[in-house]
Amino acid sequence: MRGRPEELKNISGERFELCVIGGGATGAACALEAQLRGVRTVLIEAGDFAGATSSAATKIIHGGVRYLEEAIKGADLQEYHVLVRALHERVRMLENAPHLTRKLEFLVPSYHWIDVAYLDVGLKIYDWLAGPGRISPSKYLSHDETRKRMPELNPEGLVGSVAYADGQFDDARYNITLVQTFTEAGGNALNHAKVTDFLRDASGKLRGAAVTDQLTDNTFSVNANVIVNATGPIADSIRQLATPSAHKRMRPSKVAHVLLPLDSFPTDDALLIPKTEDGRVLFAVPWCGRLLVGTTDEEVTAETELVVTKQDVEYLLRHLNPYLARPAKPHDIVSGFAGARPLVGSDDGGDTKKLARDDVIELDPLSGLISIMGGKWTTHRAMAEDTIDRVEGSLGRPRTESWTRNHLLFGGRDFTDDCWKKLTRRHPISDDTALHLVSKFGTAAEDVLTLSTEDRSLADPIVGGYPAIRAEVIYGVRREMAASIEDVLARRIGLQLYSWHMAIDAAPTVGRLLARELTWSTSVTEAAINGYVGKIRHLLHAAGLFPERSVTGATEESRRSQEV
Ligand SMILES: Cc1cc2nc3c(=O)[nH]c(=O)nc-3n(C[C@H](O)[C@H](O)[C@H](O)COP(=O)(O)OP(=O)(O)OC[C@H]3O[C@@H](n4cnc5c(N)ncnc54)[C@H](O)[C@@H]3O)c2cc1C
Repeated sequence: MRGRPEELKNISGERFELCVIGGGATGAACALEAQLRGVRTVLIEAGDFAGATSSAATKIIHGGVRYLEEAIKGADLQEYHVLVRALHERVRMLENAPHLTRKLEFLVPSYHWIDVAYLDVGLKIYDWLAGPGRISPSKYLSHDETRKRMPELNPEGLVGSVAYADGQFDDARYNITLVQTFTEAGGNALNHAKVTDFLRDASGKLRGAAVTDQLTDNTFSVNANVIVNATGPIADSIRQLATPSAHKRMRPSKVAHVLLPLDSFPTDDALLIPKTEDGRVLFAVPWCGRLLVGTTDEEVTAETELVVTKQDVEYLLRHLNPYLARPAKPHDIVSGFAGARPLVGSDDGGDTKKLARDDVIELDPLSGLISIMGGKWTTHRAMAEDTIDRVEGSLGRPRTESWTRNHLLFGGRDFTDDCWKKLTRRHPISDDTALHLVSKFGTAAEDVLTLSTEDRSLADPIVGGYPAIRAEVIYGVRREMAASIEDVLARRIGLQLYSWHMAIDAAPTVGRLLARELTWSTSVTEAAINGYVGKIRHLLHAAGLFPERSVTGATEESRRSQEV
């Protein structure tokens, strides 16, 4: 990615064949798909890339076992189609970004023999539907085998478990890497830039967008022959900006997760809790040294604040704790996040958990706007392929082949599981930092470390107790368009998920590095640091985790800067 000021010049007032609105998973995938097919594309994102739903996922690459039951019991062909497509896309997602993904086994514990039999049959069907896309066969594990893999699982009455395989990924990094790969292919992308209006030709067809730079309030235009709306849960706002009479189609539901220390439930495998009181499944997944627990699912309005609430915490722990030998308490929670699932509404007004997870592509005949709505992370590439087929139709081009099916993403080339060792041989860094860097940047980690050979202070940690180094902040600005403390801590390096308290500690250091690097911007000031800290405190408060613990583990530097 180029730096923001340079990219702004490349985009402002320029002509493109395609303008994609929304830099989440769907928009980034559409932009990459189009650019690789030779369609000159610009991607415009109002906040940060992955700043909305696409960094709030459970981070599972899956067909969706929960949809399997519905597909079979309801003899539902649409659910079956969604499932099979996702099962096949799993493999592509794993292969195209080996540095950001891994295979993951899920254990479904059973406390009755009848459940074991039911699950075993169901998961064999899951394997069978995956066909050549099967990751590894599901299998029964005895009581002892299950306890060996999950020593803190409640043993009382445990019969055994059924294990099956899906995948896991780093959603925020995957999203940013899609944008990186798109710009490497010659595309142009800008974050913190909001589409506020459209440019039209005499017949009313969209021919470009008016964009407001959210960091400066300057407005500029982008000309494009076709516009794709990939704005996720708020797709209706763009649909209605194009055609005010368009009826609403999105039915967003709020989904929340919390993170616990992994030593409360040490495991390499994921736990699937098969039935909550409202008939859903719940996951507890090892994630970057934490246990990620989710989800709640509640239909919301556009006004609902997307934060983890005290009620979300109570719901998640109420369902998790019966499965733990040592129940977790609210104050064990280290962080959390909530997002809006972009479901496309059905007409029967049913529960959000019953709405289709499939995507819908709509071509507005009046404005020519193409909207891609719904779907899930696992199928982002296939959704983009279908969307760009439609774009080529609108451009009056013959349909061309997709190049993204087997296209290695940025940082994935020459990646091997032990490439972190090379970094420790070449640079004076710990094993933990090397592992962290390759898990975020793949083979591009070398470029991050090059910055620290030019300025040794950049090899220092951002905050004690977390392996990220200061060079990542500089790299984030220069190569990944990071422009705020949250861009860095939440999405570039993942510290905000690891610990809200440590994110508070890290804010002054990150703020100062950003202020030094963002010479063109006045947005990262002491007020910005305080603003970020205030936001995290608000998250703690909403989740009922206030008053704060004493700021333990704060670095000397962050303590000093807090005193200033
Ligand atoms: C809690 C949760 C857990 C999930 N877990 C999984 C999972 O484990 N596996 C899986 O496969 N799927 C999962 N999903 C689904 C998946 O995360 C979403 O389907 C996917 O991230 C949607 O991406 P998107 O790009 O469509 O939307 P978003 O990520 O919301 O992106 C839309 C973007 O459009 C931008 N935008 C809006 N208006 C404008 C404008 N006017 N100008 C410019 N930009 C604009 C927004 O800022 C936003 O960044 C989960 C969803 C949720 C909510």
